[in-house]
Order: sequence, then structure tokens, then C-alpha cells
Amino acid sequence: MMQDTLGRTIDYLRLSVTDLCNYRCQYCMGCEGVPKRSHQDILSIEELAQIGEAAIRCGVKKIRLTGGEPLVRRGILELCRQLRKIEGLKELTMTTNGAALPQMAAQLKDAGVDRLNVSLDTLRPERFREITRCGELEDVLQGLQAAEKAGFTDTKLNVVLLGGINDDEIADFAALTGERPYCVRFIELMPMGVCADWPQERFLSADAVLQAVPELEFAGQSGVSEVYRLPNCKGSVGLIRPMSHTFCGGCNRIRVTADGKLKPCLHSLQEYDLRGLQGEDLEAAIRRAVEKKPSEHHLLKQHRSDTERQMHEIGG
Ligand code: SAM
Ligand code: SF4
Repeated sequence: MMQDTLGRTIDYLRLSVTDLCNYRCQYCMGCEGVPKRSHQDILSIEELAQIGEAAIRCGVKKIRLTGGEPLVRRGILELCRQLRKIEGLKELTMTTNGAALPQMAAQLKDAGVDRLNVSLDTLRPERFREITRCGELEDVLQGLQAAEKAGFTDTKLNVVLLGGINDDEIADFAALTGERPYCVRFIELMPMGVCADWPQERFLSADAVLQAVPELEFAGQSGVSEVYRLPNCKGSVGLIRPMSHTFCGGCNRIRVTADGKLKPCLHSLQEYDLRGLQGEDLEAAIRRAVEKKPSEHHLLKQHRSDTERQMHEIGG
């Protein structure tokens, strides 16, 4: 088991496998995309697996693969297979934009991925093109079907609340849970990277969801998500409030960026380089970084993240 100095148990690793992406979501990256780095700057599949294994030996039980877009990373299936074999890993999950799921959902299931979070900020094709700057909604909808066909259950849909952009679709997303068994999770936009200076009206409180759909009934707390349900629905609605609440007291996670830096907190400048380390040295570096995990972030006070990284570099 791994605990920080405040007694928080750290058992969840978000591992970013690439900073590249096939989309250019307006709130996550600039329209020019990501400056191309050399291959050597990014962790190899072998290094990613070694970091995953060391983290599991330290006490991590759940790994979420993220990015950038994890499905554009060459070797992603091999990485999933390698991580899945490691004793002690209870859950292997992935956050994806879903565009490649029509081709890859069954292979991901075979490779041992347990659950998927699919990001989807609008159900309107034209708006989808605007938000992602280059994506096609139909790919993601087909990807969701492919995931269901491949046997994925408990799939979560991540919807970032964008005031003046997609808040008129809150009721449509909630209605989707009446028909499909998805957990639709509305996430408050965090002022980081390209969206740090966006006007205040873009940053909506998750209360907007309860105002738009007053029939929602509170069903309990699940991790950082408040869960609600519509009467007789197949799925559920989750609210994730990084801006109107702080989860720091119960934070159980660490993150590793695609260039091998361990971030004990999403919003802090603190980073610890894991590259070049193996075996016990790697485990010791992970434990040392966890000891330095800050007690809380300053996002709410400053309305700005301290991190200088963009979200696609960290993985959310
Ligand atoms: N490309 C994958 C995807 O979009 O699901 C994985 C990486 S993406 C950075 C992970 C999640 O972070 C997505 O659900 C995205 O919508 C969310 N995200 C990105 N920037 C954000 C921000 N400023 N505030 C809140 N969520 C954000
Ligand atoms: Fe890519 Fe995900 Fe960022 Fe959109 S949110 S640009 S899909 S990394």
C-alpha cells in the first residue's frame, strides 16, 4: 500500500501514452495541434509497461490509459496486454475520444481493457466538428456501438460543460440515459492551458445540469462523481465538480505524462522524472514523489491551474 504524508492512499495511476491526438478540441489544444517531438522524447511501450508494473508493486490497483488520444499510440494493444498480465492490477481502463473504437473496440476488449470512458461534448454533427475542429460525430456514435458489441459495460460518457456552447444539450444527454445504459458525466471546465483565459461565461457550475433537468434524483456518490438518475432510466447522470468543490482531501491518484514525468497533482508545477529508472530505483522514485504530493491545489482561489502543461499533455 502507498500512502502520502497526509494518510491518503494512492492506488490509482493515470498513464498518458502520447501527447498527440487526431482531434483538436478547442478547450484542450491550439488549432495548430501538438508540436511534433522526436520519438525518443516519449516513453516507449516497454518503459510505459515498466512504470505501470513499478506503480502496481507500490500499491496501485487501477490504471487508466489516457493521452492525447491513446488509440493513436502505436503499440497500445501490446501495452494493454502487458499491463493486464501484472498481478495486483484490479482494473485497466481507458479514456478515449472514441473515433477509432469502430476498428479497435473488440481488440481492446481482447487485450484486457475492462472499461472505457468516451469523451463526447455534443450530439450535433456540425457542433461536433466545431468543438473538435476535425472530428465526425458518426465515428464516435459507431464507436460506442462497437464497444457495446465487444462486451464493454458500464461505459462512461464524459461531457465537458461549455457555457454558451453545449449547455443547451444537457437535457438531450440526460435523455440518452433513458435509452442506453451509459453513465453520462458532466464535467466542469477547468481553466488550464488554452482555455485558461476564456471568458467567465464558458465556465458553468454543474448545478446547471440540475436546473436543466429537475427530474434528476440523487442516487449517491461514486468516487469524485455525484450520481443522479431519471425515473425508469437504463443509465445514470454524474456530476464532476472540480471548480465548485475540491476533491483534494480524498485524492487517490497520481499521473505520469507521456514524456515520463510523475505529477503528484494535476494542477501543480511539481514533476518528478522517472525516465532511465528501473526496478527498485523506479519504485523508490514513485514513492518519493508520492511523499511530495501537495495537500491541495489553488484552482478555486486563483481560477487558474498552476501547471504550465496543456491537458492533452497530462491526460485529464
Ligand atoms: N483524448 C482522450 C479524450 O478526449 O477522451 C483522452 C485525453 S483528454 C485530455 C481526457 C479528458 O479531459 C477528456 O474527457 C476531455 O474532455 C477532458 N478535458 C480536457 N481539457 C479539459 C479542461 N480544461 N477541463 C475539463 N476537462 C478537460
Ligand atoms: Fe484530443 Fe482528448 Fe484533447 Fe480532444 S480532449 S484534443 S480528443 S486529447
